[in-house]
Amino acid sequence: MQSDVRSYIDDHAREFYDALKQWLTIPSISADPARAGDVRRSAQWLAGHLSGTGFPVTEVWETGSGAEPGLPAVYAEWPAADPGAPVVLIYGHHDVQPVEPLDEWDSPPFEPAERDGLILARGASDDKGQVLFHALGIGAWLASHDASAPPVTLKMIVEGEEESGSPHFADLLRRERDRLACDVIVVTDTSMWAADVPSMCTGMRGVVDAQIDVYGPERDLHSGSFGGAVPNPLHALADLLAGLHDADGRVTLPGFYDKVRPLTDAERELFARLPFDEKAWLATAGNSGAAFGEAGYSTIERLWARPTAEINGMWGGHTGPGGKTIVPREAHAKLSFRVVADQDPADVAGMLRDYVARRGPAGVEVIVTVDGPGVRPSFSPIDSPAVAAGRRAMERAFGREVLFTREGGSGPEADLTDILGAPLVFIGVGLDEDQIHAPNERVDAALLLKGAESAAYLWDELAAAGDELTGGR
Ligand SMILES: [Zn+2]
Repeated sequence: MQSDVRSYIDDHAREFYDALKQWLTIPSISADPARAGDVRRSAQWLAGHLSGTGFPVTEVWETGSGAEPGLPAVYAEWPAADPGAPVVLIYGHHDVQPVEPLDEWDSPPFEPAERDGLILARGASDDKGQVLFHALGIGAWLASHDASAPPVTLKMIVEGEEESGSPHFADLLRRERDRLACDVIVVTDTSMWAADVPSMCTGMRGVVDAQIDVYGPERDLHSGSFGGAVPNPLHALADLLAGLHDADGRVTLPGFYDKVRPLTDAERELFARLPFDEKAWLATAGNSGAAFGEAGYSTIERLWARPTAEINGMWGGHTGPGGKTIVPREAHAKLSFRVVADQDPADVAGMLRDYVARRGPAGVEVIVTVDGPGVRPSFSPIDSPAVAAGRRAMERAFGREVLFTREGGSGPEADLTDILGAPLVFIGVGLDEDQIHAPNERVDAALLLKGAESAAYLWDELAAAGDELTGGR
């Protein structure tokens, strides 16, 4: 069976690459209002392709409302022959990032090129290449089983606004909750550690953004006449910010770590097996001088599994040339928190307000502004049935052990799992060197075939997990 899947994929590789290249010519840049028509064309192209693959249901779903129209998503559905089989929803996106600066592209971003085993174009890796391998994967499964329906009910939701922050996606999920109902969600928008170190992402940190404004005297004061006798807003701000961490690099907000899911020994052991070269990593970190962070955790653990408080900017007082002896009237800082499962951005915002209220010195006004609801973290335990099934599928495709990673970025994953109430499994074959969001985006063409093969096995693995996923529904 395995050899049948493989030979089907090899036999159809050329056709697959050509289809992908055709899709990649459509400049579906969601951030550019002038490209709205192209995003729609991209949705229609995908719906047509999925329908050609055999999906009996393919629809283009409008998003937003009359007053605030959004960009379309694609929905497809292919019921399993067995109505009791698990229902699997595949998530991806068909919009792409803007392409500036154009002169840094070796070939035009929407004229897909093939070179050295790579396909180069905007969207090749993020996310069109990865979305499309599912169509090849299902074709391979059907052919190798001589079947006309998949072993699990397959649904796909491919949104058109991910690169613009998915402004209408949560509403769409709520509106179509019944049709999107599923037992597991397969997210295909992540990368692996390396081409020869296959890995699965198991979660993403969320984020909370905030600003602190400190106001003191009504005007800047002469520091000779007033300094030392009235509160200085910059000092007050410096104290608030310095107090956010203790000597061990831990965040001091009371309760900050209460909901943080501790790393399991198994996950720490698997992270430690990733070939991580700290020196090389420091070079990628803008030639940072040293690794730094919360005591007791490795660099990888700090990046993936631990929450942070970060000062992003601070300003106030005199910053021009020469001296100016003042007590400034105001001081400001922007900060952000990376949050991990099971922290809630709203809780963290509340903790920041409490901290400032308690610690803010008398005689200055301190205002904390939190930007929006933040982004919730997402996480799938490595021993959950869906992740275990995904790992087995990838191990069959790659013929070697699959390790685990997590990612820094955060898309709509938390909305998917919260609104649809199903666990996530991340099957992605992108690489860090794909230069997504940058000039010369590319994808390793052979890895897309591995993705298709992983997908083909995944449907078997999820079907075999059966009741573990459906709860015997
Ligand atoms: Zn993406």
